[in-house]
Amino acid sequence: MLILVLNCGSSSVKYQLYDMPGEICLAKGIVEKIGVKTPNHNAAVKRIISSIKKINAVGHRVVHGGERFKESTIIDKGVIKAIKQYSRLAPLHNSPNLAGIYACKRLFPRLAQAAVFDTAFHQTMPAYAYLYGLPYAIYKKYGIRRYGFHGTSHRYVAGEAGKILRRPLKSLKIITCHLGNGCSITAVDKGESVDTSMGFTPLEGLVMGTRCGDIDPAAVLYLMKKKKLSISRTDELLNKFSGLLGLSGKSRDMRDILSSAHRGNQRANLALEVFIYRIRKYIGAYIAAMNGCDALVFTAGIGENSPYVRREVCRHLSSLIKKFKMRILVIPTNEELMIARDTYRLVR
Ligand code: ADP
Repeated sequence: MLILVLNCGSSSVKYQLYDMPGEICLAKGIVEKIGVKTPNHNAAVKRIISSIKKINAVGHRVVHGGERFKESTIIDKGVIKAIKQYSRLAPLHNSPNLAGIYACKRLFPRLAQAAVFDTAFHQTMPAYAYLYGLPYAIYKKYGIRRYGFHGTSHRYVAGEAGKILRRPLKSLKIITCHLGNGCSITAVDKGESVDTSMGFTPLEGLVMGTRCGDIDPAAVLYLMKKKKLSISRTDELLNKFSGLLGLSGKSRDMRDILSSAHRGNQRANLALEVFIYRIRKYIGAYIAAMNGCDALVFTAGIGENSPYVRREVCRHLSSLIKKFKMRILVIPTNEELMIARDTYRLVR
């Protein structure tokens, strides 16, 4: 079965074509500059599909599945309606995801389509982990709670860790660190996400390329008042100009931060220290959350490629690593393959 995996972002569409169940990737690519070179998502999807001979089904990455989607699902009218509803919570993500779904529907009205949600894996979090200390009525009325993201990646690498350790997931406590431009960390107990660092939006948790991660909300209010910042400027400050970029004043890219720090740049070194300390703190918290840990997994651009970051994270955890006999694993993530697997399972 030939499965097209689509990841429609605001300005690009990434795709991979999988032959399932053999899990062979036959083609992959990206259409960039949507809105500039390619007029819209419809045109981008059309271009991708015209370069491929045959497709049996499409699997879409959808960022926000709210509380409704606890796993991947075949897309029908009701699902589209719900994804549209959750666009309120993730307008920058769900809207382009939907545009890709509509484009496929228009081009191939009868083709089976599946949605694989970034939030779904974390729907197993207990209420005490996903609730904020806000009035309960606010959670009920506005859906303000922690959802978590990168779920497909955390689920994939946790599964691979089980295979590497040759143990059933049901018997393992795993901490998965997805360290890319966006960074998040998840506690996976018996194969289920029991806590994760991203929250209501991907802004919470670790320090990232351009996002600040955890911050006292009062600091944000103070700053808005003091600098008379609008909501959108504040949003931009926290999401686009903070994190490694904001702290170093140089770059959001870990490779630049590492080389500057190693050349003696103080601010780059400070950014690196804050980045690493925050990861270590979360690992400690998740060992406590699960009362133990069998494996610590590193994945995504930084996690897979930076021995320095991995070593620094682990260096100060050595007594915990010894105590729990934790295995440290580097596992390349593959969200597209996971989407292809889910789509194959659902369509078959
Ligand atoms: P995205 O979240 O956009 O998918 P990636 O998973 O590709 O991003 O991760 C991008 C990050 O990985 C960047 O900060 C980049 O600097 C970092 N990275 C890539 N290669 C290396 C490397 N060899 N050493 C350190 N960091 C790296």
